[in-house]
Amino acid sequence: MMLCIAATLAFLPGSTLTLGAGAVFGGVEALFMHVLIGTAGVATLAFLADRAGAGGESLKRLKAIENLRRSIGLWVKRAATLCCSPSIHQLSRGKTMSQSAFQGVNVLPMDEYNQSLIAQVHPPGWVNPVPASCYDLVVIGAGTAGLVVAAGAAGLGLGLKVALIERHLMGGDCLNVGCVPSKCLIRSSRVVADMRGSLPFGIKPPDQIAIDFPAVMARMRRIRADISPNDSAARFQNIGVDVFLGEGRFTGDQSIQVGDQTLRFKKAAIARVPVLPASLFLALRRQDI
Ligand SMILES: Cc1cc2nc3c(=O)[nH]c(=O)nc-3n(C[C@H](O)[C@H](O)[C@H](O)COP(=O)(O)OP(=O)(O)OC[C@H]3O[C@@H](n4cnc5c(N)ncnc54)[C@H](O)[C@@H]3O)c2cc1C
Repeated sequence: MMLCIAATLAFLPGSTLTLGAGAVFGGVEALFMHVLIGTAGVATLAFLADRAGAGGESLKRLKAIENLRRSIGLWVKRAATLCCSPSIHQLSRGKTMSQSAFQGVNVLPMDEYNQSLIAQVHPPGWVNPVPASCYDLVVIGAGTAGLVVAAGAAGLGLGLKVALIERHLMGGDCLNVGCVPSKCLIRSSRVVADMRGSLPFGIKPPDQIAIDFPAVMARMRRIRADISPNDSAARFQNIGVDVFLGEGRFTGDQSIQVGDQTLRFKKAAIARVPVLPASLFLALRRQDI
């Protein structure tokens, strides 16, 4: 029980960060998509179930809650996508990922920087390769973890056939809404702090500091776009990774579907942030802690 409470508390800072990032970078859409309302609700239910039950009974309840979480997540996502981007709407409905399904991926505002970003991390004209007969490794998710795993496996020099599947933006949270954008904002805020605290350095602070927030955000978008070639589809294709843009859905223990293509594999790496609370609780229960 104490571990459950500790785990819940431990994830609070992360949730807060994600909430903040969602509010800053994506408005309503990111709030819906990234904060995972369903997860938060079910974490509470899981906690209550844990308190109310014991042993196998509790485990059954948690499994039921995990299913409930999936349903809530799906409906929240559908509701969000109905009132937001049509491209994400198409993706969330799990439609066949024809090339045209990706034409509409956008990151607002669609200025020159974000267009340049998308050209790297989700090129509108991208055509998925013809799948190999069987991949040694399929990586689902091209965030930090997936990129590293895919590049590492392809670069081993063992001639491994590696596929990388990404449904939205390569680079994942880190490039697009997390590490990179946050550091850009922090840098701007440090400039302001330095200006305000310049007196001890013998420099009189200006009477008024005017913050041009749109310019701050434009700088962020420029830097993000400049960095994006590192995580780009073309770069990974060039280092020998087959890049598939689309949602990966397992169809068997050695097959996964992306759009209308089926990829067969020996090993798969799921490189996406797991749904933590309910799964974590389940894991804890399995170990009888
Ligand atoms: C505001 C903020 C600041 C941060 N700052 C830092 C920092 O300074 N340093 C640091 O180390 N970390 C930082 N982080 C954390 C960092 O962003 C994450 O740890 C990192 O992005 C996790 O990478 P990942 O590959 O595990 O998951 P993600 O980046 O979430 O990537 C998972 C990818 O999988 C894709 N995906 C999911 N399911 C499927 C599917 N079925 N089919 C196809 N694709 C799928 C998603 O679209 C996504 O692109 C920060 C996070 C935030 C929110």
